[in-house]
Amino acid sequence: MAALPIRNAPPVIKYQPIRSDMCWVECAHCHYKFWYSKTCNDVVQCPHCRKISFAGSSARKRGILLIIIGIIAFVVGITATVRYYILAETNGGDDEYYGGGGFLLGLSGLLSLCRGIYYRTMKISLIENP
Ligand SMILES: [Zn+2]
Repeated sequence: MAALPIRNAPPVIKYQPIRSDMCWVECAHCHYKFWYSKTCNDVVQCPHCRKISFAGSSARKRGILLIIIGIIAFVVGITATVRYYILAETNGGDDEYYGGGGFLLGLSGLLSLCRGIYYRTMKISLIENP
């Protein structure tokens, strides 16, 4: 009776991404490395320290873009609102849609401005290229 051959050890799981849209991210707060899918949001939460950060440097550019769009939308929105109030005083104000739209635009501009600043102040986690 021949002895049974010793089973080979299971293959070692390589330190490589399984999917092409996955990559390693090093946490900006604690330097813990974890998986990140490029198709998901740029905002990543570290499974180790639970803090959120941005994956990749594109967040900085997006932050600047949001600030610029925010300022433009805010200025245009406020101008439209002020114009509406001036028109309302002189013409009796039958242009409510214009005033309301301007106010909403100003508000969304302010929100995107805040978002842009938030993006800029957030820490950036490094993406490791496979
Ligand atoms: Zn962390």
